[in-house]
Amino acid sequence: MEEDFSIEPDEKMIKVCPVCGNSDLYYEAGGYMGMVYHCKNCGYIGSLVVEANEEMIKKIKEDYRSEKDKKNE
Ligand SMILES: [Zn+2]
Repeated sequence: MEEDFSIEPDEKMIKVCPVCGNSDLYYEAGGYMGMVYHCKNCGYIGSLVVEANEEMIKKIKEDYRSEKDKKNE
């Protein structure tokens, strides 16, 4: 069996939380919504996750941190 790796390793996309950028998600049945993701880091629950590369993840995490700082004022 041959596999064709046409995607650059640098452009590897991973599924992350759209709120905090954490990739530590778990997937479970969420009633009427069907399957939903839970984020272990921020508690996000939803069927939507972001497929991001490392740069995008960094950006999401930075945005999340600055949002948090605003709330702490
Ligand atoms: Zn999260």
